[in-house]
Amino acid sequence: MHGLMMEQQLLISGIIDHAANYHNDSEVISVNTNGGQTRTNYGEIRERALQLGSALLKQGMNKSDRIATIAWNNHRHMELYYAIPGMGLVSHTLNPRLFPEQLIYIINHAEDRILFFDQTFIPLVDAVRGNLKTVEKYVLMEARDEEIAKANPWLDFYEEFLETGDKDATWVDDLDERDASSLCYTSGTTGNPKGALYSHRSTLIHAIVSATPDVMNISARDSILPVVPMFHVNAWGIAYAAPLVGAKLVLPGPGLDGKSLVTLLNEERVTFSAGVPTIWSGLIQELRDSNTKLPHMERTVIGGSACPPSMIDTFRDDFDVEVIHAWGMTELSPLGSVNNLKNKHLTLSQDEQNAMRVNQGRPPFGIELGVFDDQAKQLPNDGVAQGDLYCRGPWVISEYFGGEGGDPLVDGWFPTGDVATIDDDGNMTIRDRSKDIIKSGGEWISSVELEGLAMAHPNIADAAVIAAHHAKWEERPLLIVVLKEGKTFSTEDMQEFYDGKVAKWWIPDAVQLTDEIPRNATGKILKTKLRESFGDVLLS
Ligand code: AMP
Repeated sequence: MHGLMMEQQLLISGIIDHAANYHNDSEVISVNTNGGQTRTNYGEIRERALQLGSALLKQGMNKSDRIATIAWNNHRHMELYYAIPGMGLVSHTLNPRLFPEQLIYIINHAEDRILFFDQTFIPLVDAVRGNLKTVEKYVLMEARDEEIAKANPWLDFYEEFLETGDKDATWVDDLDERDASSLCYTSGTTGNPKGALYSHRSTLIHAIVSATPDVMNISARDSILPVVPMFHVNAWGIAYAAPLVGAKLVLPGPGLDGKSLVTLLNEERVTFSAGVPTIWSGLIQELRDSNTKLPHMERTVIGGSACPPSMIDTFRDDFDVEVIHAWGMTELSPLGSVNNLKNKHLTLSQDEQNAMRVNQGRPPFGIELGVFDDQAKQLPNDGVAQGDLYCRGPWVISEYFGGEGGDPLVDGWFPTGDVATIDDDGNMTIRDRSKDIIKSGGEWISSVELEGLAMAHPNIADAAVIAAHHAKWEERPLLIVVLKEGKTFSTEDMQEFYDGKVAKWWIPDAVQLTDEIPRNATGKILKTKLRESFGDVLLS
């Protein structure tokens, strides 16, 4: 017997319809690429998304065709986020920090037909467009500008393109919630990037769960500033979750430096934000330099890389901001686990509670996590057994776009490539990427933990730990640091600093100073590069 409920598809257009209907009073503030701000609302975004969507269909786009964007977090990007899937097309966000060859590969692989981009990226698009096989139209996300038009006759202007659509357009009505809606490629630190193709259904469920109190805890009372770019796994779903709850939305455009962010956070009374650790380092530095506080901000999600415990402490103790440490992946839309306390933890001392906030948290409803040994046998969730982290759930990929790489699943689970422990509450601790973990004489050492500790040292601006080759132990940890200006840090300083914080045999063998820790397009440390440069220093 079926239930007797109305049959309604879970579609992305439903989010913006809802926000326009019931939260049109929530402002959307967008920092423009050329300076200044646009203040709009969900109703206007919906109206313009419909007209833009109609323009896309008039352009001859067919169901599931991919439309690419290279853009900052701004209102036009938000319009595209709804216009494209609302018309049954697939929005493909591209990370401008990728190498041009990677961009070319990805765009050709996805067979994108139209490319929308912000003014910042004209030189980038101009440099790669000769190699793009399927792109028919290049649309600059601005109103017409005669000077730009003259210098770049190959591009169209967004506002003119939008005008070609019908003002009274409606969303296409033949969509199934399982239809593809958006496409993101993994950042690919090794090998070619692969595409994760989300559906309307997976996106909706992910957005609904994201908003719940033990995840991001967002509501119509929040003012949300996603620092995480809309080109990085759909801004971790915030571009969908914020209108879903009717929150005010603050889109920072290209201004991701500490000063611009602090100004915007305080001017727009932002209560909730989200971003990777490196961005927040810049923000904390700016707050300290300018002796500024964050009187409105209540909490921020930090993830994408391990959040150093000292960053959680600084936000809490100096700025009264709660850090919610989260773990995720492109293949998981991206949410996998979130650190929030349970009822039983509330009677613990403050110090005990603080200690519990450091790990990557537990899976929300919808996600199942497990650790497995190298025979794919599941290990116990006892907080000790360390193994390959697998996961499954309705917003986890079942295969990559185009079947790339074959069947990625093992017995119905997706192997994440991370190594972790999970305790009996489901709290997960990432120990490493499996290819980065340090195997010293058959024992494993977590580079993530050593890095997190190093970041608390007052002389260290940035740190990475790699597995360096070792004559006796095969691999030993090597600490690579960028010093703060005018500071020093010797091997003896390091030994003293780690003493008592980790087991003796975990303490790195040496310190290597460097000017910059190389990172990939999504802010992750490029350990392969560091190993190329420093992997043999312990042999000599
Ligand atoms: P991406 O698909 O580019 O978002 O990268 C996903 C990978 O980032 C994960 O498999 C982890 O290795 C890493 N990652 C994400 N969040 C965290 C976190 N909170 N702690 C440690 N590693 C993380």
